[in-house]
Amino acid sequence: MSLIACHECDLLQKRTDEIPPHSKAVCGRCGAVLYRHIPDSIDRTIALAIAGLVLFICANVFPFLAFEVSGQATQSTLISGAASLYLQGMWALAFLVFVTCIGAPLMQILLMLYIFMPLKFGRLPAHIPLAFRSLREIQAWNMIEVFMLGILVSLVKLTKMATIIPGLALWSFVGLIVVLTAAATAVDAELVWQKLDCNNGKR
Ligand SMILES: [Zn+2]
Repeated sequence: MSLIACHECDLLQKRTDEIPPHSKAVCGRCGAVLYRHIPDSIDRTIALAIAGLVLFICANVFPFLAFEVSGQATQSTLISGAASLYLQGMWALAFLVFVTCIGAPLMQILLMLYIFMPLKFGRLPAHIPLAFRSLREIQAWNMIEVFMLGILVSLVKLTKMATIIPGLALWSFVGLIVVLTAAATAVDAELVWQKLDCNNGKR
């Protein structure tokens, strides 16, 4: 018999391994959701992560910003945009843009594929507790990307040093945020820990 502690009121209660599809288990004392059953969680997470990877590549390969220096128009991608922010002395902003718009989404996609691809084929990837905890940490910062995009757009407008190209890269990035949010809700944490438990039990 396994126990689960409520994250709201700390009540320890018995865990039922199987709950029906589309349902959730709630705390007997305070009613907080203990875990929920997400149908086709692994397949959905993998599909959304792959879609995210394609959108991430589009967002970084196609031009995001257009600069006009002495009558000459040049276009830059998200990453070279971050680099030019750095070169103009705005290193803190450059770092934030790089981490939130490039580093965090890519890490999230790669961690999802690393964890869920093997699970799909009935195997357990190495260091899954660390990988899964890292994924949760990154997902907690998900909405920062929206915030950073807003800052970037308004900064570009204020300084008039460049214009945002309303093209493929921008729309891919917006799509990426939507897809990553959907992927985060498709992840079934309970399922991952159960697989880990089963594996530990076998040894
Ligand atoms: Zn509770």
